Amino acid sequence: MKLLITRKLPDPVLSKARDVFDVTVRDNTAPLSREELLQSLTDYDVVLPTLGDAYSADIFAAVPEKRTKLLANFGVGYNHIDARAARAAGIDVTNTPGAVTDATADIALTLMLMTCRRAGEGERMVRAGQWEGWHPTQLLGLHMSGKTLGVVGMGRIGQAIAQRAHFGFGMSVKFYNRSPKDVSFPAEQVAELTDLAAQVDVLIVAVPGGAETHHLINASVLNAMQPHAHMVNIARGDVVNETDLIAALSKGQIAGAGLDVYEFEPKVPQALIDMENVTLLPHLGTAALEVRTAMGLMAVDNATAFANGESLPNAV
Ligand code: NAP
Repeated sequence: MKLLITRKLPDPVLSKARDVFDVTVRDNTAPLSREELLQSLTDYDVVLPTLGDAYSADIFAAVPEKRTKLLANFGVGYNHIDARAARAAGIDVTNTPGAVTDATADIALTLMLMTCRRAGEGERMVRAGQWEGWHPTQLLGLHMSGKTLGVVGMGRIGQAIAQRAHFGFGMSVKFYNRSPKDVSFPAEQVAELTDLAAQVDVLIVAVPGGAETHHLINASVLNAMQPHAHMVNIARGDVVNETDLIAALSKGQIAGAGLDVYEFEPKVPQALIDMENVTLLPHLGTAALEVRTAMGLMAVDNATAFANGESLPNAV
């Protein structure tokens, strides 16, 4: 069977894939173009796509004779694939849940600390040679320990963030989630997102992207937050209305923001770049070699199960 891997992946992943498939690895770090998307569906039995490879309904519709039977996505987030349209076109979709959880939670804590404690601003000051020495009222930030965290989307990553915040930093945890959720640590579910926003010192966004969560974090949520509170997004960029976020930061309705993802990624608005109270990371959530290897091996396991006619371990 022919397998297309749409970006270079760690060597152990490629060699495991080559044990089973006739593998083509695309030599380009950008997402697939429309032409490449269409071609992939006619030329390959399985495609291993990732972030930005936009398999939309019109792509499936534009290829009447599809060879592809599985999109084995690299990543837990698959909002770049219209999974319903794929299924209707006879194509299964799988993802890589769990492999990404701890690394993404670690980046969430990085952003929370950097933003609350003004670490980015301080780092820029030192590098610019503008630090004139310690004094008691310099760069005073929000003391995170013991404060209240609000988690939007209490799934695998939301829970891993909450546990780090609760057990590591003594934070109280409140959360908003689509369905009722029992968790193994103290946490209070709040029914309304704006109520949660009003009650917390740090609001962290950990829901999947897609139509259901598009602009979930908008002006009404940001306006409900307290002026000393910070918003952190490690989910998908378009879960947050970036225009509303810039307005809330400009007016001082919230104290700061930490972002790993952007609404029009990789474009980052100049207004955010210009704000000292915003921490900007280049989508680093899972960026560690062992994590990317584990993700790749999981995607290859899904592809291999398909090749062997077995049930798919991580069908979405
Ligand atoms: P997950 O286990 O499926 O958790 C998602 C949670 O969000 C679930 O608890 C779900 O509620 C909740 N949810 C879904 N839609 C909602 C809505 N409209 N309102 C409120 N809550 C909603 O997924 P995960 O593994 O934690 O991953 C979450 C997302 O993180 C991924 O989809 C991906 O986009 C993103 N991510 C980002 C990075 C990065 O590099 N920055 C890395 C990995 C993942 P239910 O209980 O009702 O299902």
